[in-house]
Amino acid sequence: MNTIFEKLTVEANKLFEKYGLIGWKLEFDNANLRFGICRYSKRIIGLSEKMVILNAEKNYNEVYETLLHEIGHALSFQRYGVKGRGHGFLWETCVRELGGKPQRCYDSSKVEIVKGKFKYVCDKGHEQYFYKRLKRRYACSTCCKENHIHTFDERFVLKLVEE
Ligand SMILES: [Zn+2]
Ligand SMILES: [Zn+2]
Repeated sequence: MNTIFEKLTVEANKLFEKYGLIGWKLEFDNANLRFGICRYSKRIIGLSEKMVILNAEKNYNEVYETLLHEIGHALSFQRYGVKGRGHGFLWETCVRELGGKPQRCYDSSKVEIVKGKFKYVCDKGHEQYFYKRLKRRYACSTCCKENHIHTFDERFVLKLVEE
């Protein structure tokens, strides 16, 4: 009972039992682009295996919040049916009851995401990773934010780093 996966499975099963979520189970999947998912028809809560590993130590709390976010969907759907789907008030109530903080997305400033294999860097050295080679030129989002610029700006263009 010591891996992060076992720990989360135990937590999930406790909540499924406590809230009468019969037939639900937690699975770890190979998603790269999202952290968690609630599959209503299959009664599966999915968490990205890679995202769990990346965040297990530093951000366990965010991993756990993601679990509560998704179980909140299951509970809200069980209680309220179709109108309990999505991120509305009914879902928020369920997440709070589970002990979580309802937030639509994980906090991207805290959570480590799976990095794409194309690394780009701006002149100031900010790194950004993409899953595909960029087809057009992009400006660094950090520089744009710092300078309050909302359109493409040549000064902040990202350059591909070949490795
Ligand atoms: Zn959601
Ligand atoms: Zn930059």
